[in-house]
Amino acid sequence: MNECIFCNIVAGTAPSHIVHEDDAHVAFLSIFPNTEAVTVVIPKQHHGSYVVDVPDSVSDALLSFAKKVAKKIDTAYEDVDRCAFVFEGFGVDHLHIKLFPLHGTTSDTWRERKSDVDKYFEFYEGHISSHDHKRADDATLAQIAERIRKAP
Ligand SMILES: [Zn+2]
Repeated sequence: MNECIFCNIVAGTAPSHIVHEDDAHVAFLSIFPNTEAVTVVIPKQHHGSYVVDVPDSVSDALLSFAKKVAKKIDTAYEDVDRCAFVFEGFGVDHLHIKLFPLHGTTSDTWRERKSDVDKYFEFYEGHISSHDHKRADDATLAQIAERIRKAP
């Protein structure tokens, strides 16, 4: 058995709940979902988990496949209008996108949705969140922008 669990899923040597597949990709349910139908989308070929480091052809094809999977999830659940796409990669070092169905988002028109979570991350804690925190001051933001612009 390969030590990469996702390669084992592709090989069929590890069990999985596959929801969609093509020649080069497979989508399966997370077995540790924090909401119903969290889905993991991977290329069948092994690549490291940081999307920035893989060839564009690999990440572009993966995203295209993931969009089809997300549409299937949106269609399968009446209360899901869209899925969040997360490239994180610290659980398994095999390139993947986690699709998080955003339950309770169905509506005929777009509307703003806010969170009351009040948390600022000094360090990565093994998960990410998309909530807004307090308004940052512009002097600090200017320094950060300058730092990133100057980076090679
Ligand atoms: Zn792998």
